Amino acid sequence: MKRILSLLTALVVLSGCSVLQNIHLDPNLLAQAAGNAAYATTISDEDIAILSAQSVAQLDAQNKMADPSYLTRLNKIMKGVREVNGLPLNFKVYKTNEINAFACGDGSIRVYSGLMDAMSDAEVAAIVGHEIGHVNLKHTKKAMKTAYLAVAARYALASAGGVVGGVAASFVGDLAQQFVDSKFSQKQEFQADEQGYQFSVQMGYDKYSMYNALNRLLELSGNSTATMGQKMFSSHPDTAERAARMKAKAESN
Ligand SMILES: [Zn+2]
Repeated sequence: MKRILSLLTALVVLSGCSVLQNIHLDPNLLAQAAGNAAYATTISDEDIAILSAQSVAQLDAQNKMADPSYLTRLNKIMKGVREVNGLPLNFKVYKTNEINAFACGDGSIRVYSGLMDAMSDAEVAAIVGHEIGHVNLKHTKKAMKTAYLAVAARYALASAGGVVGGVAASFVGDLAQQFVDSKFSQKQEFQADEQGYQFSVQMGYDKYSMYNALNRLLELSGNSTATMGQKMFSSHPDTAERAARMKAKAESN
């Protein structure tokens, strides 16, 4: 909690976070949120920024960091790139078997060790590019807002005094989880894949990197030994189509 509060005082402009793979939001919660117009209209960009910062801090605090060798490898994969379109990047690797990664509007990139274990350097680069793409395209900001609406509805927070003042620690925890579980539309995923493709090529990786990364996700989803991966990808029937699009793009370039 101390860490969260100190982060609040050093706020930068955050627009939200994005996740590589995710789970469908509870439709009942979304219906609840949609039914409460007060939440939809009173959350400002600034509130979203604050909640995003709190969520990242919360996730950093509750996840175990991977062995430093992972971060060393990730830095090598990034080839010294520390900024994309004016967005300063910072990296951490969480120690977990889950195949996942996410990015936040402040340039916080979080990669799970399970993903790094399963993917080549070029594939990891494509995934990082995909996540940065979600930030560039403001998908992350929308996802954070949606997560907020769902959790706010659950908590029935009073909106009159502003979001931040009434936010309890448990709310932030739930918001962070809701956010990590948030789902992007197929269109948003297609757009982020395009950015992942461009990013990996600009970084000097093979033009099939984005395709290979998506194909790897497909392989993992069909592998009964990939316990966590299975959970992450079973709800993503779009992955095959995404992979096919990236393969066709690579072939035509
Ligand atoms: Zn995505």
